[in-house]
Amino acid sequence: MKDRPGKKDKHNKGVGYMSKEEFEQLKWAIDYAPKITPWLRVAGYIKSADADIRVQISRSGHVNLPPTWLAAETITGLLKELSEYELEDTVNDDQLVEVCRQLIREVKTAHSRWPMEDHPHQVKFMRCLACELETLKYYPPKFVGDEIVVKCANPACLAVLDSKMFGFATLLIKQQRKAQ
Ligand SMILES: [Zn+2]
Repeated sequence: MKDRPGKKDKHNKGVGYMSKEEFEQLKWAIDYAPKITPWLRVAGYIKSADADIRVQISRSGHVNLPPTWLAAETITGLLKELSEYELEDTVNDDQLVEVCRQLIREVKTAHSRWPMEDHPHQVKFMRCLACELETLKYYPPKFVGDEIVVKCANPACLAVLDSKMFGFATLLIKQQRKAQ
């Protein structure tokens, strides 16, 4: 990290507009966000999910995306916005620092509301893209940095979806149901 004389004296208790503590949380959020978003895309579709994160069909017949999915979208968007700047520039800008704070809030909330599952689970409300059976199963990461995988349990199929493909499948379902 570069020291900037003049600026440092003004904010010697923190980094830019952030306190030291807040800045540490920001670094955690930026590091954790890419790990939790693939989980959030899957979380609304696994068996043990809370009732409130299941796919709900509204009165109009449209399928709403699970809140976990929407949280993943929000976090991805905030990260993308911040990625265009140096971290230190974001906390020295009175508008970008609010984006940083929002990112911290979103990641913290998602982390406490929807902790990552470490056991395999059946996926609900979604059919395998390949064999069209409801046979998808969620497999948690096996080690730190490993990917979440969704696999088809039909022995004749055994298709594998990574979280990106799973996300694509979600959007397809949404569009199909909307079109009906
Ligand atoms: Zn299949």
